[in-house]
Amino acid sequence: MSTLVIKDLHVEIEGKQILKGVNLSINTSEIHAIMGPNGTGKSTLASAIMGHPKYEVTQGTIELDGEDVLAMEVDERARAGLFLAMQYPSEISGVTNADFMRSAMNARREEGNEVSLMKFIRELDSKMETLAMDQDMAQRYLNEGFSGGEKKRNEILQMMMIKPTFAVLDEIDSGLDIDALKVVSEGINQMKGENFGCLIITHYQRLLNYITPDHVHVMMQGRVVKSGGPELAHKLEAEGYDWIKAELGIED
Ligand code: ADP
Ligand code: MG
Ligand code: MG
Repeated sequence: MSTLVIKDLHVEIEGKQILKGVNLSINTSEIHAIMGPNGTGKSTLASAIMGHPKYEVTQGTIELDGEDVLAMEVDERARAGLFLAMQYPSEISGVTNADFMRSAMNARREEGNEVSLMKFIRELDSKMETLAMDQDMAQRYLNEGFSGGEKKRNEILQMMMIKPTFAVLDEIDSGLDIDALKVVSEGINQMKGENFGCLIITHYQRLLNYITPDHVHVMMQGRVVKSGGPELAHKLEAEGYDWIKAELGIED
C-alpha cells in the first residue's frame, strides 16, 4: 500500500495566501472526492501537489510513502508516481500525443526496460476504444485544437497509459456531456485497484453518480472543513454549501 499524506499545507500565490492548512491522507485503493465552491483553493491544492512553480508552499508537508514530495522537482514527482489531470490542459505543439505518453511511461521505467512499440500501440488502441476516442488523436499534437471534451478524455487516456500511483483529477467532468461523462468515469473505474489512489476534484455531484468515492471532503476558504462518505456528496447536491457555512460560522 502507498500513502499520500498532506499535513497543514499552506500555499501562497503571488504573495496571496490561498491554502490555510490543508490536511488530507489518501491510500492506494481509495477514491477521494474534494468538493467546494469556486475559488476555495481546490486547483491550488492540485498544483501544489504537482509542484507548479507559481504556487509557493509556506508551511506544511506532502509525503509520498514517507518521502518528501515538496523537495522533488515536477518530473521527479511524476516518476515517483504522481499524476495531475489539469482543469485546463495546455496545448503543446510539435509533440504528438502518442510520443508524449510513451516518453511519460518510459520515464517511470528502468533503462533497458522500456515499453515496446507493439505493446504500446496495442494498449493505446484498447484504452482509446474504452474512452471512445478517435484513433487519429494519438498522432495529433498534444491537445492542439482538441475540444474541451477531447482534452478531458485525453487526460484520462494519459492516466490510463502512465498508470500513476496517485492521480489528482481537477474538474475532469466540467464541460462533458453525459456520454463523455460515462466513458471518462469508466476509464477511472478501470483504474481502481490496490495500486492506485485517486483524488477527484469536482464542483458537481453528477460525476459521483458514476464513480463512488470512499471519502468525500469539502473545501472552503483554503481548508478541508468537512469529511464524510458518499452521502456527503448527495447532501451537498441537494442542499448546497450554506448549511456547512452555518455550521462553521463562515460568512462570504
Ligand atoms: P478553485 O479551484 O477552488 O476554484 P483556485 O485554487 O483556482 O480555486 O483559486 C483559489 C484562489 O486563488 C482564487 O481566489 C483565485 O483567484 C486565486 N488564484 C488562483 N490561481 C491564481 C494565480 N495564478 N494568480 C493569482 N491568483 C490565483
Ligand atoms: Mg475554479
Ligand atoms: Mg479549480
